[in-house]
Amino acid sequence: MTTEKFEYKNWWKGASAEEKDAAFQFCSGYLSFLNRHKTEREVVAYTEALCQANGFTDLNEAIQQGERLQPGTKVYQNLRGKAFVMAVIGTEPIEKGINIVASHVDSPRLDFKQTPFYEDTDMVLAKTHYYGGIKKYQWVCIPLALHGVVVLKSGEIVHINIGENDSDPSFVITDLLPHLAHEQMNKKMSEAVHGEGLNVVLGAIPLAEEKEEAEEKSKENHKDPVKMNLLKILKETYGVDEADFVSAEIEVVPAMPAKEVGFDRSMIGGYGQDDRVCAYGAIQALLGLTEQPARTVMVYLSDKEEVGSMGNTGAQSAGLTHCIAELCALTAPVYSDLVTKRCFANSALLSADVSAAVDPNYKDAQDKLNATYFTKGVVLEKYTGSKGKSGANDANPEFIAALRAIYDEHQVAWQTGELGKVDLGGGGTIAQFMANLGMQVIDCGVPVLSMHSPFELTCKADIYNAYLAYRAFLKAYK
Ligand SMILES: [Zn+2]
Repeated sequence: MTTEKFEYKNWWKGASAEEKDAAFQFCSGYLSFLNRHKTEREVVAYTEALCQANGFTDLNEAIQQGERLQPGTKVYQNLRGKAFVMAVIGTEPIEKGINIVASHVDSPRLDFKQTPFYEDTDMVLAKTHYYGGIKKYQWVCIPLALHGVVVLKSGEIVHINIGENDSDPSFVITDLLPHLAHEQMNKKMSEAVHGEGLNVVLGAIPLAEEKEEAEEKSKENHKDPVKMNLLKILKETYGVDEADFVSAEIEVVPAMPAKEVGFDRSMIGGYGQDDRVCAYGAIQALLGLTEQPARTVMVYLSDKEEVGSMGNTGAQSAGLTHCIAELCALTAPVYSDLVTKRCFANSALLSADVSAAVDPNYKDAQDKLNATYFTKGVVLEKYTGSKGKSGANDANPEFIAALRAIYDEHQVAWQTGELGKVDLGGGGTIAQFMANLGMQVIDCGVPVLSMHSPFELTCKADIYNAYLAYRAFLKAYK
């Protein structure tokens, strides 16, 4: 009896010219997606439009009309503009379970505080509160853009997106010059830039006033002329007042465009690839299914993962479970709570989220035997968590074995690994919350370098194989 030494291979080595072409083509679509949709709201709006263009109908309309959903029906549900579900109804009863790929579409960023604007040193700035795990020093001295919504008392939603086009202005957070940074440079990295120091420069010209008006102008306006000028610009451009920012979500994100990286263009660099890289692959995988699926197939895009999946758009909320209950009610011959529960118990879910690749500059952070690498394909991560797997889903080997078989059969390049050395740190995904529903769940995503930075790095081989992995799972998992 013989046995073989096992190791994960560099995908480029074995890939045919056609496969390499397909990977490059897939990633060129991904690149333009990255550049056009930087926030959860923007990704959800994009996905909804894509669904509508591809024959999906709004689940809410079916619910209202009590319409039965036949096998092959494509439906979607927009969850408050920040999370999203899309599904194709299978031929099998829904209580046999759903194949789900779930990603999150929020990324680390800086949010405007609810009272953001103030004037200092003849400049107007905005106060921010960072969102998710960031290294604060990475966010100073880079061009920034503002994306978000201001909701007026009337309910009207004003969209703001400025800083992305060549003709748009940029925004920035300043840093101290090295000449005067002696004290700062001797601080710990975590303390060199403070949270309350992440203030975004918005302008420096004071309000110009007519002579007659100058006599009447209030003392208040006199006090902060640069801020008053900003408020005038905001009113003229967007029709919003300072008070309206109480009901706003303005996200400050890097304005640098995503780019191909390397002389061989083998990688993609850009903001927010955690987790839009998996979200894009999941959406494309579901849209790319041409045959009628036996089991119902679904993609779930969640919000708030970077802050613990809280809130009514996060994966801990009832958003997904309500949506699945509605699908059960509209497909099962007789509906009862048990149908939904059986459906959960028989479902399988890939928590499509990124993992940390081995960084040649920081190899010490990983156990090289159980680390993930660029070029070796999508990562199957049994557990995440920290301090003895705390907060981990810890996938069942029965499920992993089934996925190994599917991936090998469908020629998907995959690898396994975990997020860094034991006790060095750690992190979590939505896997644990999905597993609470009784489903089979595992983390399965793209390895990333410089995760949570303004310019994250991924490898085209892995991006493409994640897409192949999601497609194979949706199609073949039983
Ligand atoms: Zn993530």
